[in-house]
Amino acid sequence: MDYANRAKELRELLSEYQKAYYVIGRPLVSDLEYDRLFDELVSLENEHPNLKTSDSPTQRVGSDLTSDFPEVEHSIPVLSLDKAYSDAEILSWIAKTTKNTGENLSFVLEEKIDGFSIVLYYEKGLLVRAVTRGNGFVGNDVTANVKTIYSVPLRLTQPVDIAVRGEVYLKKAEFEKINSTLIEPYANPRNLAAGTIRRNRSSETAQVPLSIFVYEGFWADATGFTDHIQILSQLKKLGFTVDPNLSYFCRTKEEANARLAAADLEGNVGSFDDIPQAIIDNTQRRSSLPYEIDGLVVKVNELSTREDLGYTGHHPRWAIAYKFEAPQAQTQVLDIDVQVGRTGRVTPMARIKDTLLSGSTIRNITLHNQDYVDQLELSVGDTVAISKRGDVIPAVETVLEKNDMGKTTWKMPEACPVCGSPIEKRGAHHFCTNYDCAAQAKGRLAFFCAKGQMDIEGLGPKTIEVMYDNGFVRSISDLYAFDFNALAGLDGFGGSEGRKIEGIKMAMEASRRTPFRSVLVSLGISEFGKKAVDLVCDAGYDSMDKLLELADKDDADSLSAIHGIGPVTAKLIIDGLNSDNTRKLIEDLRKAGLQMSDVKEDVSGYEQIFAGQSWCVTGSFENFNPRGKAMDEIKRRGGTEVSGVSKKTTCLLAGSGAGSKLDKAKSLGVRVVTEQEFLQMIGMLGEKGNQEAQPDQPSLF
Ligand code: NAD
Repeated sequence: MDYANRAKELRELLSEYQKAYYVIGRPLVSDLEYDRLFDELVSLENEHPNLKTSDSPTQRVGSDLTSDFPEVEHSIPVLSLDKAYSDAEILSWIAKTTKNTGENLSFVLEEKIDGFSIVLYYEKGLLVRAVTRGNGFVGNDVTANVKTIYSVPLRLTQPVDIAVRGEVYLKKAEFEKINSTLIEPYANPRNLAAGTIRRNRSSETAQVPLSIFVYEGFWADATGFTDHIQILSQLKKLGFTVDPNLSYFCRTKEEANARLAAADLEGNVGSFDDIPQAIIDNTQRRSSLPYEIDGLVVKVNELSTREDLGYTGHHPRWAIAYKFEAPQAQTQVLDIDVQVGRTGRVTPMARIKDTLLSGSTIRNITLHNQDYVDQLELSVGDTVAISKRGDVIPAVETVLEKNDMGKTTWKMPEACPVCGSPIEKRGAHHFCTNYDCAAQAKGRLAFFCAKGQMDIEGLGPKTIEVMYDNGFVRSISDLYAFDFNALAGLDGFGGSEGRKIEGIKMAMEASRRTPFRSVLVSLGISEFGKKAVDLVCDAGYDSMDKLLELADKDDADSLSAIHGIGPVTAKLIIDGLNSDNTRKLIEDLRKAGLQMSDVKEDVSGYEQIFAGQSWCVTGSFENFNPRGKAMDEIKRRGGTEVSGVSKKTTCLLAGSGAGSKLDKAKSLGVRVVTEQEFLQMIGMLGEKGNQEAQPDQPSLF
């Protein structure tokens, strides 16, 4: 095996999965699959230390950073947790930690709340910033949204400077209620909570009744606390909500009882011998809790020992998570076949006997790629354990019993089952090499018409399949030349006057006015999704011609110079634009009259009150989230944007959490404008209080 390539592949895959999980809140694979790949990378790096790179996912916490919110540096370590899956592992960790430190330690057992990690920063008792975990060192400032959570105190009972770690969560009952109203429901309360914290408008966040439990506190000044239990007790006194389901263990139960009482804290107590039973009790209580937990956390109680033990780049050495095993079921693999996607990727699928797991019936399970099948040594007919860890995508966990038909490990076919063309391996995956393969063509058509791209109503995957199979369309270009009346008489379409056909014709016509940015996304170029498209257009590459000019010069550097676009993405975009198929598609779409440039906004209705002025914007805002929206208001009124404060800057618009730029503006005598003043300047102050009632307010999700 080429270990270096495999390590690179794993790093890339894990980064992609992290982005989907932490940033978008819609995981691509089950936690089991993620953990399996993560563990594989850890073992590879342990066996071949030269393969370890500083940016490896094993060397840092999974990042939830996004460019939608300002970035803020953490003043405390904000890391993940080491993990164990059995009480034996937990007990051995406790024994090892006690032995290595040589101290008389005690341990706290807390519930591991399955929510969204947040750090609350207070100055003189006032909440000044709420920041996501980010990459552990830098997080996103989501203060305005977190302020909408009732159990987050805005003012503490004492004027202390303190950083507090907590988990924002959504109660199961609230999740069911809200999720049932969403067009695209979330897989679990954690994902919905994460999506809510990242809403652009705080008024939308406020509509979801989020809660918080806090579990660590870091005071700026010396406190004299020696124990974690004292910290938890003090956090309660300051006005925070601390999870009441806590257990505390010392060498004897009596000692634990006395010390917990001395800390003025309530909870279960026990000796070390009681820990396995406490794990069982907590695990059993899980389903009756009003919120989700995905494990338990065992922490060293003594703060001085915590300091001695310190941190790895990924987790503290003084705590470990006991993760609950995923719900599992046993089933049989009836068949394994492959699915061909729009990019030609060939994915093996296990077809299993109908199996009920975590409330849904499972028939099909993705097997990802040949390596995954090889590791499982999976064959048709095998009896397997399947799981839904993270309650997302079902996964085959292990083979329990080999088939008795003598079938060996499944192998990828050499030819595409749809078009018969050869299949080739690129990286971890196999691909059908024929661009015109029916499965790829249908996939591209469906992607082009789907929500998030051209959003052409009536042209869902089923209709596209009918159109393709009847030979009406072969490519996206054909769509704009097609007479949809030809569908008349086909099953489900009625006569030529049929409402469905008329609807599709109208949607096709409307798609000619779909904004350029959506047209760009719908080309389906790898890594050129909405986010990248926005970054590229905002940086001035706002027409097809400008982009094609870059592509002609093979100029990926200009794209990678844009903040947020890395060199690999830049190269993929340029290569995508340079592919013959994309070029032909672009020219066909141009001929069909689709938008080929960003249409400039008509600003004639705005008084040019900021003409000739240069503005810098910093911090986060209640009414402009992301803060680029404040800059849009400035530009509409004639102002220009500067990224840093200098003597020449006219104004600094400063929101909450404004840091060095605010200091600099004050020292240079640059005018500082608050959000309220700004709203007044642009005549929006009256509107602010009514924001909920504005007619253009988008619905919740
Ligand atoms: P984690 O969520 O398993 O554990 C660490 C977090 O637990 C902390 O950051 C904290 O926010 C939280 N926590 C809750 N209660 C706590 C308490 N009482 N004390 C301390 N911390 C508490 O680890 P992670 O690094 O956030 O995520 C890694 C896990 O996420 C993986 O093991 C995997 O299962 C899953 N994941 C899945 C995918 C996917 O694509 N399915 C992608 C990335 C990560």
